[in-house]
Amino acid sequence: MRYTPPEFETLSQMSAIDVGRLTEEQARKILEDIRWPGGVECPHCKGRDVVRINGKAEKVRDGLFRCKGCRKQFTVTVGTVMEHTHITLRQWLQAFHSMCSHKKGVSSLQLQRNLGLRSYRSAWHLTHRIRAAMREDPFAGLLKGTVEVDETYIGGRPPKDGKKHKRGRGTKKAPVLAMVERGGKVVTRPVENVTARTLKAAIREAVDRESRIITDEYVSYSGIGKEFKGGHEIVNHGLDEYVRGDVFTNTAESFFSLLKRGVHGTFHHISKKHLEKYCNEFSFRWDNRKVTDGERAQAAVGSMGGKRLKLKDLLGWDKAKVN
Ligand SMILES: [Zn+2]
Repeated sequence: MRYTPPEFETLSQMSAIDVGRLTEEQARKILEDIRWPGGVECPHCKGRDVVRINGKAEKVRDGLFRCKGCRKQFTVTVGTVMEHTHITLRQWLQAFHSMCSHKKGVSSLQLQRNLGLRSYRSAWHLTHRIRAAMREDPFAGLLKGTVEVDETYIGGRPPKDGKKHKRGRGTKKAPVLAMVERGGKVVTRPVENVTARTLKAAIREAVDRESRIITDEYVSYSGIGKEFKGGHEIVNHGLDEYVRGDVFTNTAESFFSLLKRGVHGTFHHISKKHLEKYCNEFSFRWDNRKVTDGERAQAAVGSMGGKRLKLKDLLGWDKAKVN
């Protein structure tokens, strides 16, 4: 019997194998449909009066459009994380799908092998651009309802030198704060330190004032209840108390356990300067945890617009952030 490949209209319906079978032309069609669901729009002037330039008479780039308004040319990658890419669009879709399907993330090295990319550097740039696409819109809205707040420490395991090493608070590892809305989204990021001032400022920025805050007994959180209508409840881990009715921080801890398994198992070592980007990646998958891998990939591709990330900016930005 002859094998007929199934036909798919959208990325959201596809498995990793389906994405791997796409032709470059199909990949471009899928991207165009995601980027411009209401018809092609010029990324330069937002005009809708555009024409597709067919390369029959003249040799032109694939997928080229011309805007009749501003007269500029563009393709589906212009103004997105994919702009000026040297990687094929089908490889981009495979990379998106892969990073959206693996709960603990995919290393650049793994992706380099899976996609047959020539250099590690281009795989590394690719994964960071996908992380940039996954970055939550800063105006996405505040966390509401019951919000669990917790911190953890990321950054390498203590050396195996037989000596006792401090764990958690008070070590040189990077503190990461997570605020998780029960049944909803997570907001997470590295913080400078775990003082009351820093932690409370981060909570004020991310959480709606009507909410109820739940934390452990850590002293930096004390008094935060005065600022939130739902108050502040504390579960006392020091006294071996983990759950009291619906007072617990287990959701935040599940998020951290995923992040840590990713950091240790997949990425092995994440430098402090890139930690925030990995936090974005893990929160994106968390926020979109109730959908299929294909739907998650479609959501990530759908948010790639307006988020260019040049390699030199990636490196330069990091230098600025470290020092
Ligand atoms: Zn235009």
